[in-house]
Amino acid sequence: MADIIQLLPDAVANQIAAGEVIQRPASAVKELLENAIDAGADTISLVIKDAGKTLIQVNDNGSGMSETDARLSFERHATSKIKHAADLFNLNTKGFRGEALASIAAIAHAELKTRKEGNELGTRLIVEGSEVKEQEVCSTSIGTSFSIKNLFYNVPARRNFLKSNPVEVKHIIDEFQRVALVHADINFSMHNNGNEVLNLKKGSFRQRIVGIFGDKYNQKLVPIAEETDLVVIEGFASKPEFAKKTRGEQYFFVNDRFIKSNYLNHAVQNAFDQLLSKDQFPSYFLKLSIDPTKIDINIHPTKTEIKFEDERAIYAIIRTAVKQALGKFNIAPTLDFEQENSFNVPLKRENEPVKAPTIKVNPNYNPFETKTVASPKKPRTENWESLYNSFEKDTKDIVEHLEVEEHKEEQQVIATNWDDTEEEEQKALLQLHNKYILTQLKSGFLIVDQQRAHERILFEQYISHLALGKGVSQQLLFPETVDFTPADAELLNELAKEIETLGFNMDKVGRNGFIVNGVPAELTDQNIKKVMEGLLEQFKMNESELKLKKHENLAISMARSAAIKSGKKLSAEEMNKLVDELFACEMPYTLPNGKPTIVSLNVDDLNQQFDY
Ligand code: ADP
Ligand code: MG
Repeated sequence: MADIIQLLPDAVANQIAAGEVIQRPASAVKELLENAIDAGADTISLVIKDAGKTLIQVNDNGSGMSETDARLSFERHATSKIKHAADLFNLNTKGFRGEALASIAAIAHAELKTRKEGNELGTRLIVEGSEVKEQEVCSTSIGTSFSIKNLFYNVPARRNFLKSNPVEVKHIIDEFQRVALVHADINFSMHNNGNEVLNLKKGSFRQRIVGIFGDKYNQKLVPIAEETDLVVIEGFASKPEFAKKTRGEQYFFVNDRFIKSNYLNHAVQNAFDQLLSKDQFPSYFLKLSIDPTKIDINIHPTKTEIKFEDERAIYAIIRTAVKQALGKFNIAPTLDFEQENSFNVPLKRENEPVKAPTIKVNPNYNPFETKTVASPKKPRTENWESLYNSFEKDTKDIVEHLEVEEHKEEQQVIATNWDDTEEEEQKALLQLHNKYILTQLKSGFLIVDQQRAHERILFEQYISHLALGKGVSQQLLFPETVDFTPADAELLNELAKEIETLGFNMDKVGRNGFIVNGVPAELTDQNIKKVMEGLLEQFKMNESELKLKKHENLAISMARSAAIKSGKKLSAEEMNKLVDELFACEMPYTLPNGKPTIVSLNVDDLNQQFDY
């Protein structure tokens, strides 16, 4: 029988390799940014269109390439970064496989323009599906510019697997931030569909963090520094009071490379020990420098996981360093805290005229009137106790069908019968621990959780607004400008329609800012930035952990963020209103997640406790 093994043609081999290296536009972005850094650039710009599906362009002012190198750079295993096997154990560059450009060129239309310092002219190359289509001399600035068009044009399966533009943009922003964070000595900018997303000037690590995540980070960070023979650690962790409900900004960099490590993450979490509860996560930005011979970055094709020779020692050193920094900070916050005020973060785009915020005033607005806007669901009567009774009769069946086993008991207790003839007996409401509202019933008493009650009320209100497609907005007398992280701003763009339906009226300003002109009526006296951040935080958490539908998630998140909190003192009038509105709800007894909003105890139980 004839031999059947053949060598694959290069184009096919490259396409197969591309499957491993380039999973989505963000992977191509990462490779191109890293090449620019390896080329010694100190100014790098990224331009994307349609989430990188139509165009990814990276321009740098680095070393540039000769004509021959330009042509060779697209070959597989073509690299200038290692020569011998031994070099693999002493890497100082991001790239070393010589695979990225070959892979990208196999599945896209690529254009390269490059010029070396000292050369008058540069080289322009067009490569499509691994084939060089054009090569010519051209005039171009010193450095390199790669344009990648029509990514996956010849791999439809992969193209069809891409997520929506906002999701792919988020992946790109994530990669961009990882690279930009650890290279604070390089100017970076990013544009998406012609809009500037980020513009970061050279500076310190702290300035870079603040440049990306916002000014508020400046006071959140505790510096961390530790030097041992094995590893040098430098960076920041967030103060415990700024911990998040989602794993937000958690970054490890080893020798200037972003890595993921559950094990080392545990070391940081552990250092916070008693300072955080189980569902709180610190933010951190930690740079580790280690002798390259003591790590192996080779175990993963996209290189976000690495192997350490001495992982346990590194764990212990990180844990101690973070613990010490937190301790120091607790004892002497002012001494420990060097603040850098000269932030070089441009607040607006160059050449952009300064736009005065538009002020919309509602002439009917009376700041002394609490109910300026009618709530869509008015309590049916002022006497909630009779509501409670009739509600209990109407909906007993529904309640019992709620398959929330652990709460069944409470619901049955609530559903005990009582006599509602004595309506004249108006019950005073009593607030306990600024958290619960207590009231007497004929058969016992009722305890309402103020925060959960308000969450239920708002949830039903928001769900109905979203279903009807229109909510109630209260114009602000003084519109507020709120800045978000790029990822949150992107999420807001994605949710723009729904957010408006909830009652927000906002205009985009600058890169990641919004002018808030109007808010849902119940929010007028709240800290809007905090509510919106809480909303997005909750939304992200629900999205990743509960996989809720968009409307439900938004209504839950918004209700959670906007609700009256435990710890707030309420007036008698406020308590009455809250309980009234709760009993006007379709399902007053529980939160959407099944947790109870009300607990009732009857006199018989009490008598038993007292041994009557
Ligand atoms: P690797 O980065 O692993 O070496 P790549 O396929 O990413 O492989 O790049 C191949 C080679 O092309 C690099 O080794 C480098 O010599 C050259 N190169 C790529 N991008 C640039 C750039 N932006 N500036 C200068 N040279 C570059
Ligand atoms: Mg590379």
